[in-house]
Amino acid sequence: MRVVSGIQPTGNLHLGNYLGAIRNWVRMQDELAEGQQALFFLADLHAISMPHDPAELKRGTLEMAAALVACGIDPDRSILFNQAQVPAHAELQWLLGGTARMGWLNRMTQWKDKSGKNREGQSVALFTYPVLQAADVLLYQATHVPVGEDQKQHLELARDIAQKFNNDFASEDAPVFTLPEPIVPPEAARIMSLRDGSAKMSKSDASDMARINLVDDADLVMQKVKKARTDPEPLPSEAAGLDGRPEALNLVTIYGALTGKPVDAVLAEFGGEGFGKFKPALGEVLVETLRPISARFTALLADREALDAILARGAARAREIGRPTLDATYAALGLVRG
Ligand code: ADP
Repeated sequence: MRVVSGIQPTGNLHLGNYLGAIRNWVRMQDELAEGQQALFFLADLHAISMPHDPAELKRGTLEMAAALVACGIDPDRSILFNQAQVPAHAELQWLLGGTARMGWLNRMTQWKDKSGKNREGQSVALFTYPVLQAADVLLYQATHVPVGEDQKQHLELARDIAQKFNNDFASEDAPVFTLPEPIVPPEAARIMSLRDGSAKMSKSDASDMARINLVDDADLVMQKVKKARTDPEPLPSEAAGLDGRPEALNLVTIYGALTGKPVDAVLAEFGGEGFGKFKPALGEVLVETLRPISARFTALLADREALDAILARGAARAREIGRPTLDATYAALGLVRG
């Protein structure tokens, strides 16, 4: 079993990123059995398909790498790298470009959604993005790829490309590519703004009080929790009692996600209590969880050399794993390389 998964590099990381995305990777890594392998990459090549700020991309890549390690991705066990350090991703994308069909890409709903009414004005990269995604996983002979609902179609496409390439250029008993299977990632928590229970916690929220940042110190975390918007009612004893109370639901969800308890279990403990009692308990759990993460995160970001070394080592291992497949692809296509 070889799992390959990518994440968009993004900066200003907050509790939503941790509970909704990063922690899932850590769990996946921790659940791998002996002999199974995970490759986790920062999808920096994908990031240039939309208008972007180079300085922000660079900062986001380093921040995300530091956050992943701080949150528990172990660079000795998992292979952690950014695409830009493994040119084989871009090379394989080009080589697969002869196999992928315009019609296939035209049918991608993400392309339709993201390009909207202005297809002519979109970058070529936005259109060919799913071919790069195919290259990302086929390069490593991934057997399993965690995909959310929105990425299922792209994984199907990767399988179609692999299948057609194998049919067209390889013999049946020696296929070049493995067809990867989708795996459903563990259900991720969706964390809402501390100021508005109907809006996602986001780095782009104008109010810093709306989110808990990975770099916030204990005092600030406590202050943000204390000031979080709530209603005057005490907490109910069952989840159904949170209907129509999005802010209360969000705080209980965060508490549950941090302590590994379902919402009902949290309510069994705090049902009947007011926020005057619940908020300090939540703040404490948050501070305890974030303290070591934030310390490691800040230390890594300040030690650029250590961070560069982690990514360089991950990239070297990734290049090694990908090399035989890349070589086989060139050879199958009849491309002569000295
Ligand atoms: P932001 O909304 O702050 O701009 P991104 O879009 O960069 O965050 O998201 C990076 C990753 O973090 C994605 O996998 C996304 O699903 C996850 N994520 C972001 N915000 C939340 C949230 N509030 N709750 C759960 N997951 C989130």
